Amino acid sequence: MRRIAVLTSGGDAPGMNAAIRAVTRTALAKGWEVYGVRQGYAGLIAGNFVPLGARDVSSIMQHGGTILGTARSSEFKTEAGRSKALHALGSFGIDGLVVIGGNGSQTGAYHLSQMGFPVVGVASTIDNDLYGSDITIGVDTALNIALESIDRLKVTATSLERAFLVEVMGRDCGYLALMAGIAGGAEAIVIPEVETNPDEVVRLLSEAYRRGKSHAIVVVAEGAKYNAEALAAHFREHQGEIGFELRVTILGHVQRGGNPGAFDRLLATWLGAEAVEALARGEHGVLVGQIKGEVRTTPLAEVVANKKPLDLSLLKLNDVLAR
Ligand code: ATP
Repeated sequence: MRRIAVLTSGGDAPGMNAAIRAVTRTALAKGWEVYGVRQGYAGLIAGNFVPLGARDVSSIMQHGGTILGTARSSEFKTEAGRSKALHALGSFGIDGLVVIGGNGSQTGAYHLSQMGFPVVGVASTIDNDLYGSDITIGVDTALNIALESIDRLKVTATSLERAFLVEVMGRDCGYLALMAGIAGGAEAIVIPEVETNPDEVVRLLSEAYRRGKSHAIVVVAEGAKYNAEALAAHFREHQGEIGFELRVTILGHVQRGGNPGAFDRLLATWLGAEAVEALARGEHGVLVGQIKGEVRTTPLAEVVANKKPLDLSLLKLNDVLAR
């Protein structure tokens, strides 16, 4: 009989609950015991563990957030902190850990696995900045929330001939902004991966105005050098050239809180179940993700050493389509 633990870490992402359910029930089906760790790595260090039975994960799949809670723990970044976590795992007799989270969380998982503990990661972050999974749990739902907001802003923008600067999340990664911009029909997209000249955005907006557009949308990633606030300050100085009246909307955490859509529930289910299968066959120190449509494992050492590239040719496509 084995006993495993599961935790969620970093920013919450819609679909984490479906992953917890899949991990729990797949392990229970093997006759294993499962413990949930509350508040991510902070709870792992503190030994904040709760037993998870099949009924404990009933009716959680359709809800955003995570029933286990999540946290950011600076102590876990230290070897002393991780040693405390190992001690807590040992005292509960845990012999395998599933870490559901993003880049930082999988870096923590890598360091823990380097200390000899069997860890399997599950790719989950709305930022989609994790090497080892083409798409991560939560991205699709967050993207749809951003799109719904952009669609609504377009309606009011059209009525009043306004331009909206819409800032979306994504930390240092422009994926959400790029995809929301393309799917939302934005006039311009500003992301951290490309140095944007704010005068160029002014030019795009004023051209759109002169071409008779009744509205304009600029999607900006929070991590861009010119985020919404910096761009807005620049635009105010060039209001005369732009033509449109300007408004700023920062979507912020609204993007995180949604109920997961079908895609994220299914992805979380496949990845969560596979994390347990990996532990069962003795494979650990890996991340479970989706690559080219298939569920695959990638060594955590490779995950932390690589950066997932963003297809920047899509920016050019958007320039063409925004005409
Ligand atoms: P998201 O990007 O969706 O917020 P994330 O997993 O990238 O998710 P982070 O806040 O970067 O979120 O990381 C979560 C936690 O992982 C941190 O609070 C810390 O406890 C742990 N962690 C991050 N980096 C390291 C590291 N270098 N070594 C050990 N642990 C780390």
